Amino acid sequence: MKSSFCNLFVVSLFMLLLACETKKTQGGKLKIVTTTGMIADGVKNIVGNHAEVISLMGAGVDPHLYKATQGDIQKLTEADIIVYNGLHLEGKMADVLHKLAKKKTVIAVADGIASSKFRKLSATTMDPHIWFSAVLWKDAMTFTATKIAAKDTLNAKEYRSNTEKYLKALDELNLWVHAEISQIPQNQKIMITAHDAFGYFGDEYGIHVRGLQGISTVTEFGLKDITDLVSYIVAKKVKAVFVESSVPTRSIDAVVVGCKAKGHEVKIGGTLYADAMGADGTPEGTYIGMVKSNVAKIVHGLK
Ligand SMILES: [Zn+2]
Repeated sequence: MKSSFCNLFVVSLFMLLLACETKKTQGGKLKIVTTTGMIADGVKNIVGNHAEVISLMGAGVDPHLYKATQGDIQKLTEADIIVYNGLHLEGKMADVLHKLAKKKTVIAVADGIASSKFRKLSATTMDPHIWFSAVLWKDAMTFTATKIAAKDTLNAKEYRSNTEKYLKALDELNLWVHAEISQIPQNQKIMITAHDAFGYFGDEYGIHVRGLQGISTVTEFGLKDITDLVSYIVAKKVKAVFVESSVPTRSIDAVVVGCKAKGHEVKIGGTLYADAMGADGTPEGTYIGMVKSNVAKIVHGLK
């Protein structure tokens, strides 16, 4: 009798510890901290009301250059789960994320994508901008959902059904983007942007993409990059170039001026959401909304 009571006590204590481990926040909600807004939006779709989701990087923030603040470190330390992009997108947070991964569930969404699908830039560097192919993003979100469900098994069933719904929405988005981009004449399917964020977008939707800066904004662009790009735009008679919400506009401004000097009028086709979404509470403050906003500007600028 005594021993079964003891067993029960030990089991209860164990359950309590488990509960503390996964339900640390007030109101018993799981606390999930993400790096980018795109990831936060996906995770919110997966978890519904069962977790508090906090994104460290808001609208207009460049993840390549972002350093974790003291406040961020606290949020990361308090989190039950951390979700980040991976492939060195958050280059300056690598150490912090690596250290935390030893203590808690840290998910890199890129781990959900088969490595054969990555755009290889060199033997060791992969293009991190995976969210711009809705097809790859589906893989990334499916993987993330599985990991979250494994950590919070009580709500796993609901996470699965939420995820199915979200994947359907991403499927619809993918078809819509294909249909929209197909309206651009073949010889105008050239997309010039501030940095090389749209490689996966170009591969999936059949548009040639060229950025003034390389794959990361860490490397500054030089005069030669501008003159090369200007010659290309003039030769191809490109109608519009695009600025990005998370990169200063001076780079693309210099290209427009350069084209004008060569007698080719190229307009700025608008501001694209590349590495960050729009403001919270606006349609562009969601992943699907940001993609739709970009595509509308691209089609309008190049058609
Ligand atoms: Zn980028």
